[in-house]
Amino acid sequence: MSNSSWSSRGDELVKCPVTGCHHVGLIITKAHCKLVHNMTRDEVKKKYGFPKRVILLKRSQVMRINE
Ligand SMILES: [Zn+2]
Repeated sequence: MSNSSWSSRGDELVKCPVTGCHHVGLIITKAHCKLVHNMTRDEVKKKYGFPKRVILLKRSQVMRINE
């Protein structure tokens, strides 16, 4: 199933789609695209697509990353 959102759902996180970027979070923000990649989110989407969904095995992993 392909992702079509910039934010995660449930136990998932999303990973920035830009090649070489390992940013993972609950949401890929416009600020991240601008600050790190100097692109708007629309430009990132056109070039790389939506963020990849990252499904975590343990709920505790999600909680640790959220802190
Ligand atoms: Zn990124």
